[in-house]
Amino acid sequence: MRDREADVAAIVAASEGSNADDEHDPEGATIAFERAQVDALARHALAHLEEVAAALRRVEDRSYGTCTVCGRPIPQERLEARPTATTHVACAG
Ligand SMILES: [Zn+2]
Repeated sequence: MRDREADVAAIVAASEGSNADDEHDPEGATIAFERAQVDALARHALAHLEEVAAALRRVEDRSYGTCTVCGRPIPQERLEARPTATTHVACAG
């Protein structure tokens, strides 16, 4: 996970280096927007990687597929649709 975070930091740093003075650049708003988009995408990807890593840990300790709210098995269809699910749809709320 550390390597991924370093990648994200490098991408953000590179985008910052590409325009240090976007306040006075007509393209500045676009670059700031794109930087924010990249940052949001990277955060989302990292969050998903965390969910996958957590799911793999649950496979290892044999708790995968068990609802963390009610303790009953999560239906196969839900796990196929959302492999990182930790609860039933009804228990997720
Ligand atoms: Zn449940």
